[in-house]
Amino acid sequence: MHEVKLAVSAGFCFGVERAVKMAVLALDEFGGPVYTLGPIIHNPQEVLRLQNMGIKMAHTLDEIPGGTVVIRSHGAPKGVIEEAEKRGLKVVDATCPLVQRLTERVMELADEGYQIVVVGESDHPEVMAVLSYAPESCLVVRGPECVESGNLNKKVGLVAQTTQSLENLRAVASLCICHCREVRTYNTICHATHKRGAEALELAGQVQVMIVVGGKNSANTARLAKAVIQGGTKTYHIESADELSSLEIPTGVPIGITAGASTPGWVIVEVMTALKAMD
Ligand code: SF4
Repeated sequence: MHEVKLAVSAGFCFGVERAVKMAVLALDEFGGPVYTLGPIIHNPQEVLRLQNMGIKMAHTLDEIPGGTVVIRSHGAPKGVIEEAEKRGLKVVDATCPLVQRLTERVMELADEGYQIVVVGESDHPEVMAVLSYAPESCLVVRGPECVESGNLNKKVGLVAQTTQSLENLRAVASLCICHCREVRTYNTICHATHKRGAEALELAGQVQVMIVVGGKNSANTARLAKAVIQGGTKTYHIESADELSSLEIPTGVPIGITAGASTPGWVIVEVMTALKAMD
């Protein structure tokens, strides 16, 4: 039997947990049909569980014939909520308050005439939603290597996608300061990602094998797994307990478990239970 240690903050962040709860509550309160605009969470097992409860996924408003639409924690582009209401849909806005705060910062900076530099991934739904509030004013950069001084105005407002690292924001800020007369920086980073990464690395130092649980389509889980792998501990990224039998885990070694912010608690419990039962 293995000694299994679980990272304290493994699994759902508060924004994702809140969004899933709001979707389930909408089903209880308003009855069906309930749709989420885009996958509410990057976890196939949880999406399936919600589907079985009656919560469906739509890519656009056009795919929703009636009922309730849930805006996921990443938020939605400007005008989508108004359009949904105009179409007679009931709207449950589960945008994470931290994403909401980022959007408000962007609007405030645009109103005050700043060129806005957003540190993040331009094709991420959160960034796409935020950009829609000030498309003319925003420049998205992945990191300092993407900052070209010729593209910067004298007056820059700097924000970051909520899941970015502080190091990346700091590096971009340092460059902007060299090229701009004024740089107003807002730290819009959520600590959920950083906290999971730091805890996972600490745990990895105490065990022989690490298992990172979460959707293979989840960027935050993949990043978490990559960080642990880089730390040097033997690491596996799995989605569910079904994959455990294919892993090469020596008998009786201590095992650490962590999970991305989009991994539900019940999947983690299943993995832990199965691991403890293994010889
Ligand atoms: S990672 Fe942070 S910002 Fe994103 S949904 Fe979770 S709590 Fe909100």
